[in-house]
Amino acid sequence: MSSDPTRFIEGVLAILDEGRFTATYKFAVLLALIDLCIEYTTKTGSAPPMLTTAQIAEKVIELYWPQARAFEGAGVLRQNTKGQADILNRILAFQRRISRQGYPLLHEAKSRDPEGFKKLQLAVEWKLVEMPLPRLQNLGDRRSELLYVVGWDAGLRREQVEAAEFDNRILFKAGVADALARLGGLLRPLILRRWVDRVVAINRDALHDPGVEDFLFGCDRAHLAPLLPDLRDIQGGACFYCDDRLHGSSEVDHFIPWARYPDNSIQNLVAAHARCNAVRPVSTDRAGSCPPPPAAKNPARQSLTSDRRSR
Ligand SMILES: [Zn+2]
Repeated sequence: MSSDPTRFIEGVLAILDEGRFTATYKFAVLLALIDLCIEYTTKTGSAPPMLTTAQIAEKVIELYWPQARAFEGAGVLRQNTKGQADILNRILAFQRRISRQGYPLLHEAKSRDPEGFKKLQLAVEWKLVEMPLPRLQNLGDRRSELLYVVGWDAGLRREQVEAAEFDNRILFKAGVADALARLGGLLRPLILRRWVDRVVAINRDALHDPGVEDFLFGCDRAHLAPLLPDLRDIQGGACFYCDDRLHGSSEVDHFIPWARYPDNSIQNLVAAHARCNAVRPVSTDRAGSCPPPPAAKNPARQSLTSDRRSR
């Protein structure tokens, strides 16, 4: 890989703009690679040299999970120009088996039916191995290995993938995992934007509402509200941004913006006035204008981290 970050980003954008795919899988796979590279970067800063197709399948399920809900009168949004994407259908079927009314949270569904989840994961893994993973990087007819090398060719059969000897590794080219982790905050919003545009284009007939991005990728704030009292305690009753006392209109905010990196752990959550949340400094390049990260400001957060994480 080129060590020039601009060239690397241009390469990823070329993959995004390649028009052969009918489904939205390539966006999901790219986001999964970025998120996994960030998650598996060690404390000393080394990104993982490889990932497995099982890990990618699990992450892809996580990304599509909330998208299998119905969107404001339009039903479940289509993610394929030819009907619904197979992965979405499978997730939807699993969700319906878990809960007839309402949409189950992923971690609840996993713990209620671990066998069913395992089956779903295998089916999604097969879909990814069959299609997007071996072809994602190719531009037109040109075969490219900008990001990674896989040990199988297109044309593999499902039984081969489920066999024990299947080599399920995605081996990153030199420097790629590190670049994905480092540039993830920049690439993520670009990928989300294109994914949203694609879904809007596919569902043009059914959509009148511009709130699709929040629906597909927003975090569910109602789900975070119960954490408010704990966060307020950790912060000694003060707003994270202005240090004044918190009163009625306080809310839970993501310190690293959700669109840049979707992290719901307590390390990344703060209690703040609604007004401070709205005007918070987002730039990190104006020295002194950014508050310290949550764990540095309130060390009590550390002890709560492990049991609060949703995964
Ligand atoms: Zn405040």
